[in-house]
Amino acid sequence: MRILPINSLLRSVNFAPCVTSYLQLSLLIWSEQFGRKAIPWKHANTSGLLDIYGIWIAEVMLQQTQLQVALPYWQRWMQALPTVDALAAADEQQVLLLWQGLGYYSRARRLHQAAQQLQGQPWPQDLEAWLALPGIGRSTAGSILSSAFDRPFAILDGNVKRVLARLTAFEHPPARHSAHFWSLSEQLLDRQRPRDFNQALMDLGATLCTPRQPDCPRCPWQSHCSAYAAGSPEQFPVKESPKPLPLQVIGVGVVLNEAGEVLIDQRLNEGLLGGLWEFPGGKQEPGEAIEATVVRELQEELAIEVEVTEPLISLDHAYSHKRLRFEVFLCRWISGEPQALASQQVRWVHPTGLAAFPFPAANARIIAALLQRFGHSEESSKVA
Ligand code: SF4
Repeated sequence: MRILPINSLLRSVNFAPCVTSYLQLSLLIWSEQFGRKAIPWKHANTSGLLDIYGIWIAEVMLQQTQLQVALPYWQRWMQALPTVDALAAADEQQVLLLWQGLGYYSRARRLHQAAQQLQGQPWPQDLEAWLALPGIGRSTAGSILSSAFDRPFAILDGNVKRVLARLTAFEHPPARHSAHFWSLSEQLLDRQRPRDFNQALMDLGATLCTPRQPDCPRCPWQSHCSAYAAGSPEQFPVKESPKPLPLQVIGVGVVLNEAGEVLIDQRLNEGLLGGLWEFPGGKQEPGEAIEATVVRELQEELAIEVEVTEPLISLDHAYSHKRLRFEVFLCRWISGEPQALASQQVRWVHPTGLAAFPFPAANARIIAALLQRFGHSEESSKVA
């Protein structure tokens, strides 16, 4: 029997009970056969218990990152910091190093702070207690509570929003309609099997209802999907009209002393990339030559005089809200004892020792160029 698409019902937010039951059951049956099984934190140990700590770490890693990218980070993290006590006692630099490459570093710092709050406490089992921890939003809390305790809390990550926007052919960008999407996710949640249902919903978004080329012929919700019925699933979710991202040019100085060491500084903890290390520099002023930017920034931020000697590398890096172009120069230190005027601390480090410090992704390419320029292999710089 073919079940007709139910566009009008779905747009009114309320699913008919028979529709809800159909969507729940068909998704769970699909997931038993086709859902992702090789997710280590979803498996109980030999005593039949789930590792709630491992689930929490994974859910925070997955906030902005796909499963296959997060998985090796999670495995390294769990080897290095296998318990909440180990994380609470860890040095922040170790935590940031384990996170290096995952981006959005405030997530790592907040995990560290939350571990210090959770130490010696039983694991929270209600939504409010999880939401009170640093770095935990409603969807992450719902995902942890349903995964770890099989509690009936809905989720709404990017994958789920995309599936629901297509299922209902929602005609507006979802970002401005969170309450609507939470309502859909709440209605659909199977309260008898919240763990299995939420996992199945995430699996559907990650494996079939993907951003490009959704695999509708294999989808358990195809018969009820409004976007499929309209013949245009890729057009949902409706996107915000894109604004051109502003470009900022950053002059960066790799300052060398006579011992062949380079100068790095640690960013303040607040703000983007807080707590990470970087090569000093800053924004080019209108009408300023980029070499002059480097000299001025190093004077303002570190109170040192430098001479720009040669270009090292130029690289572009895009964030969600801006594009940055880094113009990186080798510099000779002329005078002035470096001071941390705009950072937490400064350090002279031999280029082969840089791998011991957590850097943002863009700086990794600067380090590679630096090692190549001075004939050091990248292998020689890896942390033991
Ligand atoms: S039918 Fe296609 S667009 Fe609709 S939910 Fe399934 S995979 Fe997504």
